Amino acid sequence: MTDPIKTYAFVHHHITVVRAGATPSLQVPEPLSRKTPVMILLLVFMLLFSVVSAQQMETVPEVERVLPKALESYRWFHSHPELSKQEEKTSKRLAQELRAAGLEVIENVGGYGVIGLLKSGKRGPVVLYRADMDALPVTEATGLPFASLNKGVMHACGHDLHMSCAIGVLTLLAQNRDDWEGTILFVGQPAEEVGSGAEAILADPRFQELLAEVGNPRLALALHDDAGLPAGQVAVTPGYVTANVDSVDITIHGKGGHGAAPDLTVDPVVIGSELVQSLQTIVSRKLPPGTRAVVTVGVFQAGTKRNIISSKAELKLTIRSYEPEIRERIVEEIERMSAQIAAAHGAPKPPTVYHHAESYTPAGFNDITWAGKLRKLFQDELGVENVKDLPPSMVGEDFSEYSKGLKIPSVIFLLGAGAQDGSTAGLHSNKFAPQAEEALRTGIQLMRLSLLEALRP
Ligand SMILES: [Zn+2]
Ligand SMILES: [Zn+2]
Repeated sequence: MTDPIKTYAFVHHHITVVRAGATPSLQVPEPLSRKTPVMILLLVFMLLFSVVSAQQMETVPEVERVLPKALESYRWFHSHPELSKQEEKTSKRLAQELRAAGLEVIENVGGYGVIGLLKSGKRGPVVLYRADMDALPVTEATGLPFASLNKGVMHACGHDLHMSCAIGVLTLLAQNRDDWEGTILFVGQPAEEVGSGAEAILADPRFQELLAEVGNPRLALALHDDAGLPAGQVAVTPGYVTANVDSVDITIHGKGGHGAAPDLTVDPVVIGSELVQSLQTIVSRKLPPGTRAVVTVGVFQAGTKRNIISSKAELKLTIRSYEPEIRERIVEEIERMSAQIAAAHGAPKPPTVYHHAESYTPAGFNDITWAGKLRKLFQDELGVENVKDLPPSMVGEDFSEYSKGLKIPSVIFLLGAGAQDGSTAGLHSNKFAPQAEEALRTGIQLMRLSLLEALRP
């Protein structure tokens, strides 16, 4: 099968020649010589050829012009993954590409954040567009020719795809500034996987200065790839789209002693076991049926030796919810159950329940009006059958911080990156290998359309 990228690169080459002012000149060299008829013939041929190229150009979707560059960036980012808060080389490369595309760039914002400003030169709205940059502590096993060169670190969540998509989109928009009005405030965000990058960007005084200069955005936009959705498809869910993420640690205080004399102790392992069971009844018995929420005990640690009853046990929980009142209710139930179950077993003091406010990630809410507009755009572009309705996810995404912090609406949509037969390994898997070319083609086009829509006065 023909590689469409190569084909378009070839066409693009001729477009460049035509645009670079090499359009055959109609000036006939003086003085006329024997060579003149040959030269005229040659010029006529070149002129004809450039007309053909120009016609071909019109049939080539604009996205194809930036796709080879975006793919090249994608492969570079993929082979050079960096962990959260260590995105040094990644940020340099991203900054370099954005400058080359014509953006004003500020580096090292909120850590290794990269802020890019793209101004049309005409007054108009400001729109924030975010792409995240960090990779994961995963040892890659995809076997890709451009697999990770950084041992034990992998772009297993597709943030490499997000960055290269942004490079494609912003290059196109920079080349066509007559098509839109206003300012694009691009945020290359570090540390998404640890949930702290967006807050760090928002808290950086240079970001605040920039906002004061350009104005508060009217909308925040982002996309995230999806391994289960085939490349060429997209999902945009109005309303809640990602969950509140709360972290709670419980320390159960017992009374330690000999494993052979439990009657002289208060066993925190027994209290903890009962508590884990009871916590599972919060969603099923304490919340209205159909409420979407999760309580997971990911860590249960106690003891050092089989014949010693420990004096304490530790539980570490992750809690997922959407509505603020449900979030509060779950935490209250955890506190109540912990205290009462420990009391029922005669614990010397109530458990310590610590709610980590600093690591809270708010739920993401896709603004109903904007999500509706984008969905319509996507349907017109891809066909109704390629725009899916996916249920909201229980994962966390700190993209929600921009909406919360700047008090603006936001939309994040899911970009299909999987194989048509559903065989692509999931996000965070060491075998995650997206259909990068097709996903980039769709992502660049849809994000470009979304930005143009959001920038309409
Ligand atoms: Zn991830
Ligand atoms: Zn991610």
